Amino acid sequence: MARKVLVLSEVRDQELRNVSFEAIAAGKKISEGGEVVAVLLGENVSSLSSELIQRGADRVVTVEDKKLSTYTPDGYSQAVLAVIKSENPEGIIFGHTALGKDLSPKIAAKLNSGLISDATAIEVSGGNVIFTRPIYSSKAFEKKIVTAGIIFATIRPNNIPPLQKDETRSGDISSLSVEIKDLRTIVKEIVRKASQGVDLSEAKVVIAGGRGVKSEEGFEPLKQLANVLGGAIGASRGACDAGYCEYSLQIGQTGKVVTPDLYIACGISGAIQHLAGMSNSKVIVAINKDPEASIFNVADYGIVGDLFEVVPLLTNEFKKL
Ligand code: FAD
Repeated sequence: MARKVLVLSEVRDQELRNVSFEAIAAGKKISEGGEVVAVLLGENVSSLSSELIQRGADRVVTVEDKKLSTYTPDGYSQAVLAVIKSENPEGIIFGHTALGKDLSPKIAAKLNSGLISDATAIEVSGGNVIFTRPIYSSKAFEKKIVTAGIIFATIRPNNIPPLQKDETRSGDISSLSVEIKDLRTIVKEIVRKASQGVDLSEAKVVIAGGRGVKSEEGFEPLKQLANVLGGAIGASRGACDAGYCEYSLQIGQTGKVVTPDLYIACGISGAIQHLAGMSNSKVIVAINKDPEASIFNVADYGIVGDLFEVVPLLTNEFKKL
């Protein structure tokens, strides 16, 4: 059953975020040979349209407006609803990102539609689109189908592989003029952290520290390993609560959910609330001096030892590659 699927693209610093390409790949599956329309919102973003086509979108619809230069739920919902009205899609996919988590329920409510959030896999069988999503802090997975109305879902970053870039692809790029009414909130200023580094929620490699790092300085060897592997630094709540790092690095039930290719847990005991944020990582390496630590139950590779000895050894070995 061919469907038209609308996918929301996300832009940061004039670059498309990887989740935009993953949303296209998800849209392709759901469309079953129909059409994938990427929606691109912002100011001076049209030049990014061709990349969306090269990554598998059949068409791109842009809405350009100064009021869309930064995300606001008001502005984005007006623009997205206008595109939905003009395109009348059978499916809609957003990333399960900070933006997607904020915007999708608002759009679903306006459309009087259901919403399947945080999907980690999609299969299509017998005309049904089956979404897999984690429940009970990732201790179990459920499969869901939409039985009526628009198939609207958000996808967890790093779970649905994007399509390879194909520079020979072509597709229609059009713009929709939408009158964005007065916004009830505006972004006055964005204060950036001094060092941006790799975005934790999209990182392919995460080096996470727990209370075992013992201090702010204890993160230094982890940062060196992250630099060599091109990874991002994460942390347990234990490390955040102890003041060793910022809460923005917290991974887990009440922190960020990450699914990198490689997760290296250093001095983290493996509490269930931490596992909720990282247990779906593709390869998990645990370094802990306690052989009984429960992190070893989810680890693919376990190293029993002192992280301050093991991490520098790993960094040196990876440097040689
Ligand atoms: P600890 O449990 O103290 O573990 C430290 C580990 O370091 C130990 O296993 C120790 O053997 C090891 N270690 C010590 N020194 C070394 C060394 N030199 N070398 C190697 N290993 C060493 N936690 C989260 O992480 N994320 C969440 O989102 C989260 N949400 C929560 C929500 C609720 C409602 C509650 C109640 C709790 C939540 N927690 C969360 C807290 C969670 O229960 C744990 O307390 C926390 O994860 C423990 O952090 P930790 O593993 O760093 O510390």
